[in-house]
Amino acid sequence: MNTSSLETLQQVFGYDSFRGDQQAIIDHVVQGGDALVLMPTGGGKSLCYQIPALVRPGTGVVISPLIALMQDQVDALLELGVRAAFLNSSQDWRTSRDVEQAFLAGELDLLYVAPERLLTDRCLDLLSSGRISLFAIDEAHCVSQWGHDFRPEYLGLSLLHERWPDVPRLALTATATTVTRREIAQRLALDDAPHFVASFDRPNIRYRIIEKNEVRRQLLAFIQAEHKGDCGIVYCLSRARVEETADFLCQNGIEALPYHAGLNPAVRAANQARFLREEGMVMVATIAFGMGVNKPDVRFVAHIDLPKSVEGYYQETGRAGRDGQPANAWLAYGLQDVVQQRRMINESAGDDAFRRRLGAQLDAMLGLCETVTCRRQRLLAYFEQTIGPCGNCDTCLEPPQAWDGTVAAQKILSAVYRLWRERGQRFGAGHLIDILRGKPTDRIQQYQHETMTVFGIGADLSEQAWRGVLRQLLAQSLLAVDHEGYGTLALTDASRAVLKGERTLMFRREPEKKVRSPRSTGTAKSKDAIVLPGEAQQRFEHLRTWRSEVARSHGVPAYV
Ligand code: ADP
Ligand code: MG
Repeated sequence: MNTSSLETLQQVFGYDSFRGDQQAIIDHVVQGGDALVLMPTGGGKSLCYQIPALVRPGTGVVISPLIALMQDQVDALLELGVRAAFLNSSQDWRTSRDVEQAFLAGELDLLYVAPERLLTDRCLDLLSSGRISLFAIDEAHCVSQWGHDFRPEYLGLSLLHERWPDVPRLALTATATTVTRREIAQRLALDDAPHFVASFDRPNIRYRIIEKNEVRRQLLAFIQAEHKGDCGIVYCLSRARVEETADFLCQNGIEALPYHAGLNPAVRAANQARFLREEGMVMVATIAFGMGVNKPDVRFVAHIDLPKSVEGYYQETGRAGRDGQPANAWLAYGLQDVVQQRRMINESAGDDAFRRRLGAQLDAMLGLCETVTCRRQRLLAYFEQTIGPCGNCDTCLEPPQAWDGTVAAQKILSAVYRLWRERGQRFGAGHLIDILRGKPTDRIQQYQHETMTVFGIGADLSEQAWRGVLRQLLAQSLLAVDHEGYGTLALTDASRAVLKGERTLMFRREPEKKVRSPRSTGTAKSKDAIVLPGEAQQRFEHLRTWRSEVARSHGVPAYV
């Protein structure tokens, strides 16, 4: 058996040897076993079912959600002399009929089928009338209802086991948390199948996460400095941002194309084809782009919005450097990302358990962003794999300093507390920072916030530093985005411990940028007087006294 698998690898596919677990997986399936295969993108999952399909008698049926790529996959196999075909909604009935007849005549080694097509009576009857060597369920994480690629049709695939109990089945995915893995095994009735888990480490990818300020300019500077003429992918959260960013890059001399689900399918297909065939194209896309796209020389993947989960981030960044050459994963993230995503979770449809799960996914992503240790180590730890510090990511190359942000946190939490308790008011990040920095804006005057004891007690930190503090408080759920509000901030149960001085907070210190002049809005700069640090200290002392008084009158321990 082994020799014929190796011969097939060499003679049909033209490769010398197997990689990683390929040999073990192939042997296992050739002998009729089921398997769950977890390998990062580009790891070589396809051969794990293609070779057994060639070695075993009958046709290998591959279930894949990637209709747009089936033609390419089949063409590539035909070129190698493998008898392959596909059935999906993009072809006319005559072509389908020819494929069906070829299958029945035993003339196909591999048949690719879209899951919704497979589950039709016609297709199930067809398959029952022919000989099947194996079922390969590609992109098997699509069965996970919690994942970002959930396809309801995948849930129907457990029927394969019932109808064809003797045909080996492989589920393959690049998504590897234990939770997802368990879910795949359970939903596809693969409980007894061994799991083949490859290393998820991608040593040639340099992970970097920077603080966002003017993100398009930062992106442009990054591309111009490090990736002139390179092929790359830029991920954005919304369609509008995709369009704007692609336009912006084009205006600045970078060849960029948009891709999102709102585009006309023909335009989308054309853009994808250009990206695959031409050199040095930058695809600006939503996460709708990328699954199954096999372009080896993508030199960078940039995120200009915060991904919703570490799994998503890993998948998307994994599209860089599939040729093993150095590649960059670059993410810019800031305060507004955290506010926006917490808000989206609050507003999302679904029950509390669902929201909690989304919240936990976001927390893990934020933990990766705010970590002061090796990014790659942290990323792999999420997939329960252990490595030493990588020496190649931004935190390894330039270890961030940590600083004691307890007092700063107390100041901002007190401001939130007082605005709400005393005045029934809630505000967003910008206004809070103005209060702390003692900036007499129109809004401050309108609400008479300059009469508050917290006014100006944070003049010792720059606006950027305050944004960092707020972001990290939100990241750690020490502040929450209000449920009803428009990104307004509220205390959480955990805030208390900080206010009471029971908890010390160490924050990442961002390199200080030159403080930019505030966007002028009527109030002239002369009025933008910053309170002196000495005076700020006085105010803070005042606040401390006030706080004890309030505490005494409410019979609770003193905050701050
Ligand atoms: P995945 O589906 O895991 O993302 P693919 O199956 O598309 O990965 O394989 C990625 C690339 O690696 C392909 O170009 C494939 O031909 C190549 N490859 C896979 N296995 C081997 C091998 N044993 N030797 C050399 N190249 C391989
Ligand atoms: Mg694949």
